[in-house]
Amino acid sequence: MDDLEQFRSEVRQWLEANCPESQRQPITAAEQFWGGRRASFPSPDAQLWFERMRDKGWIVPEWPTEYGGGGVSERHGKIIKEEMKRIKARTPLYGLGLWMLGPALLEYGNEQQKQQHLRAIVNGEARWAQGYSEPGAGSDLASLQTAAEDKGDHFLVNGSKIWTTAADKCDWIFCLVRTDTTVRKQEGISFLLIDMDSPGITTTPIALISGESEFCQTFFDNVKVPKENLVGELNKGWSVAKALLVHERKLMSEMGSDSPRKVLTPNEAALQYLEFENGRIADARLRSDLVDYNMQMHAIGLTHFRTFEERQAGVRSAAPLIMKYVGTEAEQTKSELLLAILGSRGLGWEGEGFSDEEIDTLRLWAMSKAMTIAGGSSEIQLNVIAKNVLGLPQPAGD
Ligand SMILES: Cc1cc2nc3c(=O)[nH]c(=O)nc-3n(C[C@H](O)[C@H](O)[C@H](O)COP(=O)(O)OP(=O)(O)OC[C@H]3O[C@@H](n4cnc5c(N)ncnc54)[C@H](O)[C@@H]3O)c2cc1C
Repeated sequence: MDDLEQFRSEVRQWLEANCPESQRQPITAAEQFWGGRRASFPSPDAQLWFERMRDKGWIVPEWPTEYGGGGVSERHGKIIKEEMKRIKARTPLYGLGLWMLGPALLEYGNEQQKQQHLRAIVNGEARWAQGYSEPGAGSDLASLQTAAEDKGDHFLVNGSKIWTTAADKCDWIFCLVRTDTTVRKQEGISFLLIDMDSPGITTTPIALISGESEFCQTFFDNVKVPKENLVGELNKGWSVAKALLVHERKLMSEMGSDSPRKVLTPNEAALQYLEFENGRIADARLRSDLVDYNMQMHAIGLTHFRTFEERQAGVRSAAPLIMKYVGTEAEQTKSELLLAILGSRGLGWEGEGFSDEEIDTLRLWAMSKAMTIAGGSSEIQLNVIAKNVLGLPQPAGD
């Protein structure tokens, strides 16, 4: 048995012994633990599972042990994820701190910032919001106007951020702020960590058509932010922002592919809802769409595998730049296909006339629209691909 196989076998044994049975079930949104000062565990088993994984260092296996990680290589981390997926183990902790800020801090943060924030993230003590977009700066993010004025020992922040997911539940927000208005717009931006309890911060939930309000607008009114909360150099925040976006887009490109949520796959739905003739799906159009979908997913799976292996071998490739676009568009195609297969059974938003799976299918269809906007819209991803992958000529001024 080689080292990796040996490791896999140890992981399998550990998970078998430590993952409670109740944590091997598909998870609902209400059962997810996002951490933070005000958070509570959805169940005693969820707490036990979280604490065991935290103590093992497997909340984020690849982070260094001194910051609460497991200190393992990306390849070993992948094995842990695969083995968790095999037994349908729930993700013990969710959060933008784990997925986005943490990796950016590891690269750009100073030692004091790493010590203060990384372990708090892993321990589920701090929940983070993302303060990038503004009412006048979404796709054109570098036009952001929220100002941080240098006041000697602190910055004074004024402005507002929009679409800040769950900001009303978060303890901290990582923000892009303008620190120089006299230079090219990308060169006057800094990256600040701001405590949401600071005087002068208010959040207003934004009501959505679904009746929910996961978004907020977050206002900063003369908010004092200590100088030590600046990540990287003053006016060099654009580099930190871009590095963080790479992690966000990678995460989004993989969404759905390893979701432990109980959602119907198109193949399962076809068996359950469609008519068959001579062992074939009777509706030729749906049959063909299903084949296309399966081929596309297989190709995406192989491309993820290729990019992982290329990264391990230190080979730079353009593939990661296309994956946010491809992954989120494929999720949308999947959702459209599912609704087509479910027919009128796919029209239930709530109520007892529909199963939980049918209701989830429609809700995920609505959510799949958002995924091609969040983290940079599909049109912007196509611009990135045109420029950086295909090398196409750019419009004047870009
Ligand atoms: C689910 C979700 C969660 C989010 N969470 C957060 C968060 O926590 N924090 C945060 O800061 N932001 C968040 N956002 C905001 C997100 O980053 C922005 O919505 C996104 O960057 C697009 O910006 P915008 O909404 O201002 O649209 P706009 O930039 O106004 O774009 C409108 C339309 O024009 C198109 N367009 C714009 N420019 C171009 C161009 N140059 N070429 C071609 N087409 C173009 C876009 O593709 C889009 O279709 C979230 C968004 C969603 C949907």
